[in-house]
Amino acid sequence: MLAQEGSISSSRIREDVRFLSSDALEGRGVGQRGGDLATQYLATQFAKAGAQPAGPEGSYYQQVPLVGVETQADAQLSARAHGSEIRFAWLDDFVGVSEQQQSEQFDADAIFVGHGIVAPEFQWDDFKGVDVKGKLLVLFTNEPPSDDPKFFGGKALTYYGRWTYKYEEAARMGAKAVLIIHTTPTAGYGYDVVRSSWGKEDPQLKLEPGHPALAFAGWLSGDAGAKLLALAGKNVDEMLKAANSREFRPIPLGIRIHADIPTKVRQIESRNVIAMVPGSDPQLKSQAVIFTAHWDHLGIGPAVNGDSIYNGAVDNATGCGILIEMARAWADLEHKPKRSAIFMAVTAEEAGLRGTEYYAAHPVIPLSKTALDLNFDAFYPFGRTKDVSVTGAERTTVWPVVQEAAHRMELTIKPDAQPEQGHFYRSDHFSLAHAGVPAFSIDLGTDYYGKPAGYGQKIFEEYNDKHYHQPSDEYHDDWDFAGMEEAAQFGFLIGTTVANQDKLPTWHAGDEFLPARLAEK
Ligand SMILES: [Zn+2]
Repeated sequence: MLAQEGSISSSRIREDVRFLSSDALEGRGVGQRGGDLATQYLATQFAKAGAQPAGPEGSYYQQVPLVGVETQADAQLSARAHGSEIRFAWLDDFVGVSEQQQSEQFDADAIFVGHGIVAPEFQWDDFKGVDVKGKLLVLFTNEPPSDDPKFFGGKALTYYGRWTYKYEEAARMGAKAVLIIHTTPTAGYGYDVVRSSWGKEDPQLKLEPGHPALAFAGWLSGDAGAKLLALAGKNVDEMLKAANSREFRPIPLGIRIHADIPTKVRQIESRNVIAMVPGSDPQLKSQAVIFTAHWDHLGIGPAVNGDSIYNGAVDNATGCGILIEMARAWADLEHKPKRSAIFMAVTAEEAGLRGTEYYAAHPVIPLSKTALDLNFDAFYPFGRTKDVSVTGAERTTVWPVVQEAAHRMELTIKPDAQPEQGHFYRSDHFSLAHAGVPAFSIDLGTDYYGKPAGYGQKIFEEYNDKHYHQPSDEYHDDWDFAGMEEAAQFGFLIGTTVANQDKLPTWHAGDEFLPARLAEK
């Protein structure tokens, strides 16, 4: 093994995973006792590793103010046009939440805005300068279909296709509310998935003054959407077709929407845990490479087979163990890299990447001086693999470093098998990428040493079916941590190399995140 990586040890990763996923930590719920204990443990381990506190007040903690926002079951939504009225039923027909974090009551004119995308780099603008202030926008998620990698990423989903983007853009435009008409092809999953993930409390970052936010960010089921469009004499297929054209212009629907959204709101305190090993170069030490892993999981929840603790061993005690071990190895280096290294265990990933979203708005090192974020989330304990996944790395100037590190460790880089699913946009590195920082996750592949072909895929599916987000995601003594050691070494090699490079990494020309990189302060 390479000298620098020699000090990374799978047995220490094992001990951290064993403790963090033990019943004593009660599933590391955000705002719960077990979550607070987990952050204390992480801060203690960072201190013992020799990494300094790097939170804003000189401690290891960065407070992350969250607000739990829950639409109440008597929420009402109705549409009126030409003397007729449709009433939509909460959950069956519509779901959604107030981003203003309060009860809402409003009337607004509905306007159809296609995919709701403004993408100058692809010469695409669904709004065409039409003023949508105070309006309720009706739209489809996803993006115009493409086979051309230079146009909305070809088959791969870009951020413009994600529903989160739709709400952000609509809020920036001053819209009152958004209703996304669900279709299975545009969403990539059925309405039942939308219904179950939206029909409960939504933990949001506490709204900051002056930050644009919608009074209602919601979805309509496919059937309810068809009824709404029919009220305007339109149908889903023709509207989807219109939305896929570059010539599309917003279509006022002549429909008045009435919404009455009673909302329960509660404050939740949580925190990121941030540690740093300073760089050795007098100038470059003001810049940093960041490593991230979320510490939170689902806490205590509905019992399954008599067990109500959602331990989150794979998801994501494993990433935290890797993070602590990399911090230890970095602090142990006799010759520190030029740039500093930040090791950040983040909160509220399961609530929608909230901990990293907060950090990106309140970084401890300016984003313009942040070289790279490497994220670690959910590692399987089945041994070393011959392949690794680094989706997104190929879009950055870090790519040659990643290729070289893979080559040195005899790892094959495995391409994203389902780029149209947009997995890149669903993990913590994304919050940093969204803010312009080159960022991606390191995941193990599926080709295990000493195992037959198909083994990796089989255990992946087994974990996903039986244990993903279940109380049975628990630590076992027979787990093999060699793969996690390998992932830590790989990340360490990339991180130390980038920390010593002359130039700060960036996104390639034409990438959707390059404008944010260039605008960073
Ligand atoms: Zn996770």
